[in-house]
Amino acid sequence: MTSVRGKLHSFETFGAVDGPGIRTVVFLQGCPARCSYCHNPDTWDIHGGSEIETKQIVDRAKRGMSYYGEEGGVTFSGGEPLFQGEFLVQTMRALKKIGIRSIIDTSGTYMDEFTEPAVEECEMVLLDVKHSDPEKFRNITGRKQETLLKLIELINKHEKPVWVRQVIVPGINDTEKNIEDLNEFIRKINRIDKVELLGYHSLGTEKYEKLGIKYKLKDIKPMDSRVLNQLSSMVKIPQSNSL
Ligand code: SF4
Repeated sequence: MTSVRGKLHSFETFGAVDGPGIRTVVFLQGCPARCSYCHNPDTWDIHGGSEIETKQIVDRAKRGMSYYGEEGGVTFSGGEPLFQGEFLVQTMRALKKIGIRSIIDTSGTYMDEFTEPAVEECEMVLLDVKHSDPEKFRNITGRKQETLLKLIELINKHEKPVWVRQVIVPGINDTEKNIEDLNEFIRKINRIDKVELLGYHSLGTEKYEKLGIKYKLKDIKPMDSRVLNQLSSMVKIPQSNSL
């Protein structure tokens, strides 16, 4: 494979929430989805961000090596990291060569010929399931849920463990019924280590103003943490699927 260059949004050092252990988080630029409550609309445009080479990411990731331990490593987030599949695969391979494990934080809204090699190459997947209902999924993301289902098939085929995540937004998916549906939906995934519900917050909305993009959810309040805890207690990782 000839070396390709990527588009970077930003780095985060010592990330502790985007996967197990201490991680360097690489936010790749570009996303085909347009989620109504996206906190990072500045990652959408693939022509934005800055050009980067695999070596620069490897050098940056190396700095954290003494902190990664048994579990940590690099998380590729975005944007949608699979949107730059060729660069992603190339970079994960380069990291693997020096013993750094990579995981992918994806929304399952994009697939191409590099998606399967990317799934194969990664250690695990953080799977952001925007909604278990196909129509609502489309309303939120502007993309077909079918792509997410195909990605789940690939994840199962390569036996990768998954952390499922869903952002809970008042008035959109903050109901018990939604959690029951999510419990049913995640039965499609063979290896689930964890399911996390994340409360919607309105941080990031000023980015919309800066970019001159209308923020569709501007009247929605942040998610109530008590309701979130209650909904979280309803989440069931299917026994037969957990490790
Ligand atoms: S998939 Fe993620 S980055 Fe893309 S629009 Fe949705 S929330 Fe934003």
